[in-house]
Amino acid sequence: MKLSKLASEIAESPTFALNEEARLLRERGEAVINLGIGEPKNKTPISAILASAAKLTSGEVKYTPPDGLPSMKKAVIRYTEENYDRLVAPENVSITNGAKQSLFNILYSILNPQDEVIVIAPYWVSYNEMIRMCMGIPVIVTPEDGTFTPRFEDIESAVTSSTRAIMVNSPNNPSGAIYPPELIAKIVEMCEKKGIFMICDDIYHKLTFDRNVAVPAYHFTKKDIENSHIVVVNGVAKLYGMTGFRIGWVIAPRDLSRVMSNVLAQTTSCVSPVAQAAAEGALNGLQSVVQALRLQIQNNRDVVLQEMRTFNGIRLIEPAGTFYALPDIRAFSNNSVEVSKFLLKKAMVVTVPGKEFGMEGHIRISFAGSVRDVTDGIARIKWALDPTSPNEIYIGDKKMIRDWM
Ligand code: PMP
Repeated sequence: MKLSKLASEIAESPTFALNEEARLLRERGEAVINLGIGEPKNKTPISAILASAAKLTSGEVKYTPPDGLPSMKKAVIRYTEENYDRLVAPENVSITNGAKQSLFNILYSILNPQDEVIVIAPYWVSYNEMIRMCMGIPVIVTPEDGTFTPRFEDIESAVTSSTRAIMVNSPNNPSGAIYPPELIAKIVEMCEKKGIFMICDDIYHKLTFDRNVAVPAYHFTKKDIENSHIVVVNGVAKLYGMTGFRIGWVIAPRDLSRVMSNVLAQTTSCVSPVAQAAAEGALNGLQSVVQALRLQIQNNRDVVLQEMRTFNGIRLIEPAGTFYALPDIRAFSNNSVEVSKFLLKKAMVVTVPGKEFGMEGHIRISFAGSVRDVTDGIARIKWALDPTSPNEIYIGDKKMIRDWM
């Protein structure tokens, strides 16, 4: 069968593949703990349920404008004013099927074949594949060993005459790092001087711990939105735990929004109005749900830190936001794919190999789930890797004995 070379070369999403593997094992009765996927366990906020139910019962579920319902855009405009201190117009807003489609549409709308996009490691798994789907070339900048924050000089020296954009994801999936404001300010200045798009993937921007904050890139420009090269992506998946509603949005200059709107119209037509109503409900509803989720996740993060303290050999940079930790496992092995496979086989715990994020020698642990999963999951990883931990453990109701070291 002859298929597209470009499409055939797109890698499978490792997080979705691992999720499926965990589901199949669970179906076979295995007591799997999934620390792989990044998905909060909370129920949909009630304001979102009521708003989408009202839309459904109206019986008026039709196409919306390709770039979103005016009322949904209004909710996003208010969100942007409250959280970014920026007043934007409806023409600057595009509503998409998840932040994933936002990111793809931006890349598709700005890249010509062979254009380069700077991606900072560790990076979210989809960036490179999306860039390649849009015929672009990802150029990876890796921080110095022992840190997850890149040096500005390394970013600057990765810029060429073909650079069109840089992806900035802070708070960062998979490391939980928040880039310092000085770094964000320098990237903004560089992008505006050189006419490079700064794509801010802000999907975790309010999931920050302790006194950490992710300062928006907008704070470092005096340009108005039409002349700025900052493009902001956000959505309801992570902040409200509404992953299944598939709502994301882009704030961009009108020229880019117009192109993206045509792309949306010719591909997905629009996002389901039921899902848009749900997101509108979440954005207009009580914001204490975000705070409650943030506190629950911060508590989980504290549990991770506490459990890791007694884990011999592992090194962990404390996550300042998101719901991921990226421990360094090089004391056990340099091969993260092998370690993740081993942990699934022996300890029935799903983790994601750091190699997938451009950070070999690490594994990603999601602490978005229950405290119980986080505690038991790390106890199992410790049991499987750390010879100083007790060599017996219960996995489900099976007593397991460590016999490989
Ligand atoms: N960006 C990052 C950094 C993410 O981690 C994710 C989800 N894993 C997304 C974007 C996509 O979000 P959505 O579910 O809204 O498509």
